[in-house]
Amino acid sequence: MHTIMSASEAKGRLSNFRDKPFREYQREVIEWVMGSEKRVKVVKAKTGAGKSLIAMVCGVMAGDLTYLVQSKFLQVQITNDFPEIVSVFGRANYPCVADPSKNCDRCLATKTNPCDAKSKCLYAIAKNKALEASYRVFNFNYFVSEITYAGRFSGNPFTVVDEADSLESVLSGFVSLSFGERTLFQLGLEGGPKRKTAGSKDGLSSWRDFGQEALQRSTGIATKLEKEIESMGDYDEEQKLRKMKELEHFTHIIERCNIFLNNMNDQWLYEEVPRSGSRQGQIIFRPTWLSPELSEKFLFRHSDSFTLLSATFPPMPILAKQLGLDIDDIDYYELPSTFDPALSPVHIWPVANVVSKEMDEAVPKLILAIKKILEMHEGQRGILHTVSWKLCGQIIAGVNSPRLVTHTSENRQEVINEFTKGEDGRYAVDSILCSPSCERGVDLKEDLARFVIIIKCPYLYVGDKLVSARIYSGPLGRLWFQSEALSCVEQMSGRATRSETDTATTYVLDYQVEKLYCEKPSLFSQSFKDQISWDNCPWDDLVYKAEK
Ligand code: SF4
Repeated sequence: MHTIMSASEAKGRLSNFRDKPFREYQREVIEWVMGSEKRVKVVKAKTGAGKSLIAMVCGVMAGDLTYLVQSKFLQVQITNDFPEIVSVFGRANYPCVADPSKNCDRCLATKTNPCDAKSKCLYAIAKNKALEASYRVFNFNYFVSEITYAGRFSGNPFTVVDEADSLESVLSGFVSLSFGERTLFQLGLEGGPKRKTAGSKDGLSSWRDFGQEALQRSTGIATKLEKEIESMGDYDEEQKLRKMKELEHFTHIIERCNIFLNNMNDQWLYEEVPRSGSRQGQIIFRPTWLSPELSEKFLFRHSDSFTLLSATFPPMPILAKQLGLDIDDIDYYELPSTFDPALSPVHIWPVANVVSKEMDEAVPKLILAIKKILEMHEGQRGILHTVSWKLCGQIIAGVNSPRLVTHTSENRQEVINEFTKGEDGRYAVDSILCSPSCERGVDLKEDLARFVIIIKCPYLYVGDKLVSARIYSGPLGRLWFQSEALSCVEQMSGRATRSETDTATTYVLDYQVEKLYCEKPSLFSQSFKDQISWDNCPWDDLVYKAEK
């Protein structure tokens, strides 16, 4: 991208950073992004690289920035760090000026009953401010919805996406069509489509019939709701609001039905998710891979240049496949890690082949190895990734140590919050968080975890239709499956090393990880490879001997 401003000059325009020096490698990566002629620039940068400053300086150099992040928390953090950027949140975050007892998501204004205070509406003002600003930050879901349906934030010259490794799942979720049991009942379509697979005889035409029927019936319900709302007045606000929410729901279904009918093909999947506890069952239609047409339409055509940032990315051919991009449109840069690998060694000590057909032999060996590791880390906190609930239960019962702390799917966040309070929380100073679902988003810095145990290679569940369809879609599908597992291993290990001075040891006990590493070393990042010590497992009697 052509720019006449230097990185230092651009940093000088950011009030909280003008007097601070660049961190190691920041200037290099900024110059690389600004010098790249490719449409999509991918930057892999570990925690601590200072990704938000990289994004902001590039934006200042480009003269315009649309910054997309995954959470409201990050949005707030960026706005605090960079007062120059304007943030827009969802409606629920702004009080309604016409009725301060509620927020803008409970707006009752309609076409025939408009709001008198519209010009003062805080949500509308925030959107307009972002449109006029040079730098703006949005939640990714909000942005995709806005550019698709309102189109007001489309056409930006320079866009940065943070935590872009989850870009595919957000986009794929956006184009998928799903119906909960209640909606299917309202539409009278409880049976779903006649055919369950696109490849069966009349499969696609039965899906099309179903989509058209859902569209027609949803449109009928939405029209009826609109009329009811217009004739209601404001005497029963709660009732009116309920109907408006329902109208919003069916409008959303109408939009998704249109996306489905215009884009569905024999590469799409149909899935029935059964009811579970209080969660209602649902049916979903989704693409196996995002097609170039879909990703272009719902993201890439809306900006001239995209810079994708994340600590983890799969190899570029896989990323291109996932995002429906042409590999020739992508430029890639990996920032060297500034962490000392000696502070976070990884021991690959395969004591078992943790696959379903060998599970009976694997579990007792894992239990013995875990007991030995706990002795080595007496008095310290750690995290034990079990990958599955079943293994979690077996390990807790077998290790039988009061140090092990676990959670259910219901109290997961509560247990994590308590665990991360450290000495101020309710768990002992030498507790170990034993979990099948803490591979991402859990920050166990310093004494919160001094060791990590990974007992199973975190392969995705092959019983999932999408996973199996991808695996059998060709060599890239298989590589994607392996890459997802290894990236997850890195994420699991990374929960306990959060800064350049932090120190933690990782133990990988499943032979499947070693096997994968030997077959596909390029799937691991260079920084993770540098951490691997390749010393032998110290317990000869436990070492797994693979058959030759
Ligand atoms: S448009 Fe008016 S009624 Fe609606 S949220 Fe804004 S201020 Fe409130």
